[in-house]
Amino acid sequence: MQRYSIPLTPGPVSIPEEVLAAYQFDYGSADLEEDFFRLYAGCERDLQMVLGTQSQVTIQTGEGMLALWGALKSVLRPGDRVLAVATGIFGYGIGEMARQLGAEVEVVGFGHDQAIDPQPVWEAAKRFRPRLVTAVHCETPSGVLNPLDVVGAICRDVDALYYVDFVASAGGAPVEMDSCRIDLGLGGSQKVFSLMPDLSVLAVSDRAWAAVEETGYVGYDALKPWRTALGDRYFPYTHNWHALAGLAVSLQMLLDEGLAEVYTRHAEVAAYCRQRLQSMGVRLFPADEDFAAPTVTAAYVPDQWTWDALDAALRSNGMVVGGNYGDLAGKVFRIGHMGSQANLNLVRRGMDVLETVLTAHPVRQTAPSPRS
Ligand SMILES: *Cc1c(COP(=O)(O)O)cnc(C)c1O
Repeated sequence: MQRYSIPLTPGPVSIPEEVLAAYQFDYGSADLEEDFFRLYAGCERDLQMVLGTQSQVTIQTGEGMLALWGALKSVLRPGDRVLAVATGIFGYGIGEMARQLGAEVEVVGFGHDQAIDPQPVWEAAKRFRPRLVTAVHCETPSGVLNPLDVVGAICRDVDALYYVDFVASAGGAPVEMDSCRIDLGLGGSQKVFSLMPDLSVLAVSDRAWAAVEETGYVGYDALKPWRTALGDRYFPYTHNWHALAGLAVSLQMLLDEGLAEVYTRHAEVAAYCRQRLQSMGVRLFPADEDFAAPTVTAAYVPDQWTWDALDAALRSNGMVVGGNYGDLAGKVFRIGHMGSQANLNLVRRGMDVLETVLTAHPVRQTAPSPRS
C-alpha cells in the first residue's frame, strides 16, 4: 500500500494530528454516559454555528450518503413530487434516488460545468408544485459551487421543503442554512471536517420535522428517533464516541480560527490553485470562474495525457489527486483543498509537482473543448 506526502484528494482528506489523537483514547459506553451526551450536545451547538442555523442538528454514524438517503426516506412517501435541481453527478443522483423510492421526480438539469440558474427552477416549481426540492451546494466531481439562497426563496413561495447536500462545502464556504431557508441540510465527516468517513450530519428544520412525523419512516437511517434522542438520553444505536470526540476537536479548530478566516483561507487556496493550473495551460472545468468551488478545483486532463498516465506520474512523485465518475471519468480530474488540505504550502507543493510532470510532457494548447 502506497502512502502519499502530498494528499490532495477531494475526500477523504488528510486527518490533522489533533483530530486523530481524539480517536486514540478509551472512552466509556456511548449509549449510557452523561459525558457522551454532553459531547454530542457540544458538537450540535458548534455545528449550528458553522451551518448558520437554529435548527436541530443530528449527528449519525455513517458517511454523507447516509444523510442523503436518510433525509429522502424520512420525508418522502411514494408518489410525492420531488423537483431535483441538478448541475452535476450528485444533483442528478439525488433525483434518481428519490425516483427509486417511488417519488414522482422532475429534474431541472444543467451542464456539469454550469451553476444553477434560478429562472427555470422557478418556472418548474410553480408548475410542478413539489413537496421537496433538492439541490447540491458544492458539486465535488465538477468543482462547481451553486447559489443556495435563490432556490430557498422559491421553495418558500411554493411551500416545498428544501433539501441541500452541502457535504463538500460546509465548514469551507458559508452555508447559512436559516437565511437560505434550508429545511434538510446534509453534511459528512470526511470532507471539510477532516475526519475519517464515519459520521453524517443532518440539520432538520421544524417544517422538516413535521414532514418526518407525517411520513413515519422507520429504519436504521430514519431521522425520527433523533428528534428526541438527546433529550431522552436514548439513541437508536451505540454511537461512535471516538468520531464524535474527533469532530469536537475539528469544530473547535474551525471556531478558534474564526469562520470568516476559514472561508478566506479556502478562497485564497482555491484561487491560487486555479491560477497555477491556468499558468501551466491546464483548462479549468467550470465554465465560469465565478462559480468555481473554494473546496475543490476541477480541471480537464491535459491533451497528450490520459488520466491513468497523469495519475501514475503524480503518484510516483508522492502526490494523490481525485479522478472522476460517469461522463467525467478520464476527462476531468480534481484537486481537493478542503479542511486540512486548504493549506497554501501543501497546494503549492502539489502544483510544483504537477508543473514538473507536465513540463516533461508539454500540454498542447489548441484542444477543442470536450463538452460532457
Ligand atoms: C462526498 C460527498 C457525498 C457523500 O459521499 P460519501 O460516499 O458518503 O463520501 C455526498 N455529496 C457530495 C457532494 C459529496 O462530495
